[in-house]
Amino acid sequence: MAKRDYYEVLGVEKNADQDTIKKAYRKLAVKYHPDRNPGDKEAEEKFKEATEAYEVLSDDKKRPIYDQYGFAGLDGMGGGGGAQYSHAFHDFSDLFGGMGGGFNDIFDSIFGGGFGGGSSRRNGGASTGASLRYDLHLNFKDAVYGTSTEIHFKHNETCDVCHGSGGAPGSNKKTCPTCNGMGQIRQGNGFFSIQQTCPNCRGKGTVIDKPCTNCRGTGIQEKSKAMSLKIPAGVDNGKRIVIRGQGDAGENGGPSGDLVVVLHVENHPFFERSGSDLYCAVPVTMAQAALGCEITISSLDDKKVTIKIPEGTANGKLLRIKNEGVPISSSGRKGDLYVKVMVQVPNHLSSKQKDLLKQYLELENPPKEPALIRLSELEN
Ligand SMILES: [Zn+2]
Ligand SMILES: [Zn+2]
Repeated sequence: MAKRDYYEVLGVEKNADQDTIKKAYRKLAVKYHPDRNPGDKEAEEKFKEATEAYEVLSDDKKRPIYDQYGFAGLDGMGGGGGAQYSHAFHDFSDLFGGMGGGFNDIFDSIFGGGFGGGSSRRNGGASTGASLRYDLHLNFKDAVYGTSTEIHFKHNETCDVCHGSGGAPGSNKKTCPTCNGMGQIRQGNGFFSIQQTCPNCRGKGTVIDKPCTNCRGTGIQEKSKAMSLKIPAGVDNGKRIVIRGQGDAGENGGPSGDLVVVLHVENHPFFERSGSDLYCAVPVTMAQAALGCEITISSLDDKKVTIKIPEGTANGKLLRIKNEGVPISSSGRKGDLYVKVMVQVPNHLSSKQKDLLKQYLELENPPKEPALIRLSELEN
């Protein structure tokens, strides 16, 4: 396959300055990074292509050679042809360590952190444990009025046997032979020389001669956990309750992650909700709507609520009943209940009802050619 011109790959002019080249590459790298496009071969190729172009055009020795002789001039220079990019996929942030900051922040905001494991590098191998997600399904009423429930989940805790040291009783620590106690190893050379957490000691700098059998030397073990959880009144679908420190234990003495409980509120057959207001619908007869009346309905919490239907209430009219909605958390106040009045047209009339309605119709004497209703006058 023919290779594309490096300037074309980055979408910059032949005389572009370093700043422009850097910016162009960042844009492409963010777009095509494999972590953001898992399993996408095309994105991976584009990422490699852009990285290769950047490697050459950002190098003030290679760029003039490429400008003068093209790809052929770079052969045998290392890079430009078959450089190893696999490290870059794992620890991309290191690649940009000297680029004046900001880049890691961009990646963190896009990929949600976790890039390069920077904290483990600086804290002697300690890293914060993973945060865990728990999806909790709540019925509509419990979400409105609050409830208590018990949740069951698994997370990693510090090992009971070795208390996190990872060593069996009587074991000794020795300096890690892979990294000579540095906790870090360097791989590659030139532009792609990157520092990684040592895979042998996982950043601690020491290894244990006899690992704990309970946790296989990791210092952490999976445990089931039950926990009671109070759901406050008025929570809505999608709300997250964060329980600090109930995620996975951190490695090498790092803090635990959080447990994030995501609430899923089920629908109710008769009530809907919008913020702190509740909505329901109630049928009334034609005569009730015309003459006005009082009706009693059961509210969401099975309370009897009496509603006054005013004389001449139109079909679809929304009546507001104050303070019968969703409790507004800890304020003591509540939203409102909106009742939609649905006027029912009778369809099984007795002959007496028919006679009365005919008499009524005669008195009413509606026009045979009614004017159309302005759509703007229609309710709802
Ligand atoms: Zn252990
Ligand atoms: Zn090591």
